[in-house]
Amino acid sequence: MNLLEHEAKRLLAAAGIPIPRGQLITDDSSDTPDFPLVLKSQVPVGGRGKAGGIKLIESADAFETTRQALLNLSIKGYSPTSLLAEEKLSIARELYLSLLVDRATASIQLVAHTDGGMEVEDNTDFQKWTISLEHNDIDALGQSLADYYDLPGQTFALQDIVEHLIACLKTNDATLIEINPLILTDDNRLIAGDAKITLDDAAAFRHDWKFTDTPTEANFVTIDQNGTTATIANGAGLAMATVDAAVSAGLSPANFLDVGGGASKETLLTAFHRIIEYPNVRAIVINIFAGITRSDEVARAIIAAKQEINELPPLFIRLAGTNYDEAVTLLTDAGITIMPSLEACLGAAKESLDV
Ligand code: GDP
Ligand code: MN
Repeated sequence: MNLLEHEAKRLLAAAGIPIPRGQLITDDSSDTPDFPLVLKSQVPVGGRGKAGGIKLIESADAFETTRQALLNLSIKGYSPTSLLAEEKLSIARELYLSLLVDRATASIQLVAHTDGGMEVEDNTDFQKWTISLEHNDIDALGQSLADYYDLPGQTFALQDIVEHLIACLKTNDATLIEINPLILTDDNRLIAGDAKITLDDAAAFRHDWKFTDTPTEANFVTIDQNGTTATIANGAGLAMATVDAAVSAGLSPANFLDVGGGASKETLLTAFHRIIEYPNVRAIVINIFAGITRSDEVARAIIAAKQEINELPPLFIRLAGTNYDEAVTLLTDAGITIMPSLEACLGAAKESLDV
């Protein structure tokens, strides 16, 4: 489960990591916050800044219009139900800092970059440290981080942040905590400017989580961030079989996705938006056995995705079940081909990828 920024920041603050002063704004909230402020769309995806979801507001005059505009702005298929109004910070530097669970080595990885912020994905040379689960010299790690950022004056602060971040990851059963940017203010404070936290759904029984649920997230799993083929299927079994078949056919799947029974057009559109965030995906294999989900609804989502998303990779679609004939008519009218079998889809995807 991916938390919204304000939820993630609440966990960071509880763990002792500095966050900006702020308040949550909903459609009917009435208190006016202090200016200048930054108004931030609360959607469970990154890249809000680039999508127009982060606005700097200098004075009260611009507040109302900006609030309405942000509440009406859908980002990558998500519409916010709340906004976070935060004190505007004077930024000296934007750093990148994250912790993630590395299943392969059964350890925690600390990942850092000196250039955080909205362009962080352009960086390739991230600095990484492995934290074993048994014993670590956290102070030495904080020291190394201060050296790496070239912030000798912040050694104590960074030692604190690293210690609290590890505790935050463990106590909350998070698999990822990303602070981007970690802001160094003009007056030399380190503050978490943005936060992303992914919780381990398998640990839900240990907690009393009351976070905003975003339906498509749970059954969407990244297999390989650099994979070239994305998959969309319904039902966990069919979704697994689709991924396995893609691997057997020599394709490299980026994700597993079970859109669930009764998947709506919204759910599917959100899935497409997530998929196009993978850097190397050049084919999307769709394998839907419609039962409660209706084929025509799937077809409408596919058509909408084609219209809405520029540079949507080629689609290889196999559909069967409820309202199949209607789906065929809709897709054919839109010039989209349905394939007779999953094998045909995978073969065609392979050919188009030239693998
Ligand atoms: P994201 O685009 O979804 O990752 O949203 P962020 O919360 O990371 O905000 C994007 C960018 O907005 C940051 O990298 C900053 O450059 C800018 N920003 C966010 N908060 C502040 C602030 O308090 N002051 C200033 N000057 N810029 C901010
Ligand atoms: Mn960010």
